[in-house]
Amino acid sequence: MNATDDKTIVREYFNSTGFDRWKRIYGDGEVNSVQLDIRTGHQQTVDTVIAWLKDDQNLSQLTICDAGCGVGSLSIPLAVEGAKVYASDISAKMVAEAQDRAVISLKNTANPTFTVQDLESLTGNYHTVICLDVLIHYPQEKADEMISHLCSLARSRIIISFAPKTFWLTILKKIGSFFPGPSKATRAYLHREVDVINILAKNGFTVQRKAMTRTRFYFSQLLEATR
Ligand code: SAH
Repeated sequence: MNATDDKTIVREYFNSTGFDRWKRIYGDGEVNSVQLDIRTGHQQTVDTVIAWLKDDQNLSQLTICDAGCGVGSLSIPLAVEGAKVYASDISAKMVAEAQDRAVISLKNTANPTFTVQDLESLTGNYHTVICLDVLIHYPQEKADEMISHLCSLARSRIIISFAPKTFWLTILKKIGSFFPGPSKATRAYLHREVDVINILAKNGFTVQRKAMTRTRFYFSQLLEATR
């Protein structure tokens, strides 16, 4: 399977069964225990990013690109904190849901701006580019291109998260208990932290802060790198 196929599959998944599944996981309604565990883990990743950015006390001066924004779990709170957020996602359904949630949380619809766009075709220049939990859908060769493209859009900083390719996760994935449940319709790709750091370095970025979130069914390595 080539990378184009991966992207088509991912887009279709997040416009159909994946949309229904992830909208619920990234919501506050009732979910099963596995989904609740993933919700909790993902929220920790989001909270870590918000805490890092708030710590710097300059959020209201920042332009932020949230690439693969999903239902706006990060974009909306960052806009609430005063950042100018440009959010985009390959899935029209995820974007529509994000827009609905933004209207509820924020009184205006001007910030964040939401567009349906895959991250490979994003243009522009932002202080900070963020891409959370998207790389899991892409193999390593594709991840290199994607991360390098995101770096080209970032003036100062990039924040990305991915499922780390560690010994134990590789085993877990092999025995099939990784991303459990009937609607696991896409492949999950793990990435080696050293590979991601090397791609960032190749693009002139140096890692500043790291955080690992691990619950029973959710694993995400978060990296902040600057130039
Ligand atoms: N970053 C969000 C959503 C994570 S779910 C959050 O952490 O809450 C992964 C999202 O990536 C999905 O909404 C999916 O549609 C999107 N996605 C997958 N491949 C993409 C691509 N190539 N470009 C843009 N978005 C993509």
